[in-house]
Amino acid sequence: MATLAVLVAALIVLVVVVVPWHRPPAPRADQLAALGQLPREQVDRARAFHAELRPGSYGAMAIGLIGALLLGLTPLGAKLVTLAGRPFGDHWIAQAVLGGLVIVLLVEVVTVPFAMWRRTVLVEYGISTQTWGGWTVDLLKSWAVGAVIGGLALLGFFAVVRLLPRWWWAAGAAGAAALVVLLSFVVPVVVEPIFNRFAPMAEGPLRTELVTMAARDGVPVRDVLVADASRRTRAVNAYVSGFGPTRRIVVYDTMLTEATGDEVVSVVAHELGHAKDNDVLTGTLIGALGTAAGVIALYLLGSWTGLLRQAGVTSIAEPRALGLLIALAALAGLVAGPAQAFVTRRIEARADAHALALTGDPATFESMQHRLGTVNLSDPDPPTWEHVLFGTHPSTVERMAAARAYARGIR
Ligand SMILES: [Zn+2]
Repeated sequence: MATLAVLVAALIVLVVVVVPWHRPPAPRADQLAALGQLPREQVDRARAFHAELRPGSYGAMAIGLIGALLLGLTPLGAKLVTLAGRPFGDHWIAQAVLGGLVIVLLVEVVTVPFAMWRRTVLVEYGISTQTWGGWTVDLLKSWAVGAVIGGLALLGFFAVVRLLPRWWWAAGAAGAAALVVLLSFVVPVVVEPIFNRFAPMAEGPLRTELVTMAARDGVPVRDVLVADASRRTRAVNAYVSGFGPTRRIVVYDTMLTEATGDEVVSVVAHELGHAKDNDVLTGTLIGALGTAAGVIALYLLGSWTGLLRQAGVTSIAEPRALGLLIALAALAGLVAGPAQAFVTRRIEARADAHALALTGDPATFESMQHRLGTVNLSDPDPPTWEHVLFGTHPSTVERMAAARAYARGIR
């Protein structure tokens, strides 16, 4: 309990210190002015698109949660794990790895119809360019990646439980935190290439301008990579992933065909903000501390006999309790989601401010936000409940308003 208290305190200190709390959204009057300038039919189309996506998105969320709770808060999950281990003489490795994969796959499979529904909406509105074949390959690839990472994590966790029956919570917490850091470090070079091809941006005036800007910003960038996102989408995007030697700035190839050169500069200036403020590393450390705290909370919950009885298990650290672990993780994710979204919105607003300061060009920043919103069919001013619960970025009108406030000298 003392270790959990220390971890939670460290998490709170980290969040308080690194999150830019002083950066609230730009004035609502500027947001409404920006909204008023967007073509009415574009706003209507974006809203219709999101209204059609909602049942698929929230349906998947609800059914995934119900599935996890059914497997974890009834003996069903324990029975499945036992069945998965039976052909292998009830060996713990078969129970841990196969049982775990069966449970997770079940929760995934029940959400597939909703994912298919979402895909038909994305095709209908011209965002997705993928065939059903390509979509299925993507789904299978993501399951395979999850199975490899999840299988290794389960194997490691239950090996630790067997080696250190009294201290597994400490080693498990440290191991889980280390895994989060390792994954964040290697995903850009190991996992991302499974889904996309990345090539250095072609030599030319744009690349030269981007590299010069990065140097002026004091952010060492070896290359700006272009991802072949057009194989599955018309949406435009850019991101930073990895840290240290695996850090990379990636621009979708769709961005280069849809946006002007100046707009690409504005987007990359935003990504340089993430790089300069080490936002990926910050997110990774928050995730690592949160995961370690989760493992210890799990250990403490293990003394709640009523909960164990509900799941039909005798210990929270046996493979048969995997359903219970998944159910608890789903509940924790539900609670942590909105807090996480709040933190990322503030971090994204800081990267926007960085882009405005670095380029000194609020007009292009605003036209770029307008274009991102138009091409991606973002709801420029989403319903408050949805933005608060799930919004990972400031809304389009908040970002346009930030540019207007900047142009008036508000920093
Ligand atoms: Zn960003």
